[in-house]
Amino acid sequence: MVYNITVDRNECIGCGACEAQCPEEFELEQGSEVKAKLKKTKVDELGCIKEAADVCPVNAIKIEEVN
Ligand code: SF4
Repeated sequence: MVYNITVDRNECIGCGACEAQCPEEFELEQGSEVKAKLKKTKVDELGCIKEAADVCPVNAIKIEEVN
């Protein structure tokens, strides 16, 4: 199974919960606005990404099955 992972930058409030939950896949981009960034956008296994999506307070993390 391959999954596409996206972070909706318009929704993301830069709280850091995804990075705390799943530092393997998420990091905070420092700039004029703090936003979550994915280290990979396609993965074979979700691992902690599922938990990160669950803890996101604004549901900005989307997981889509590709096949
Ligand atoms: Fe953004 Fe959601 Fe991650 Fe918080 S948990 S930094 S709102 S994507």
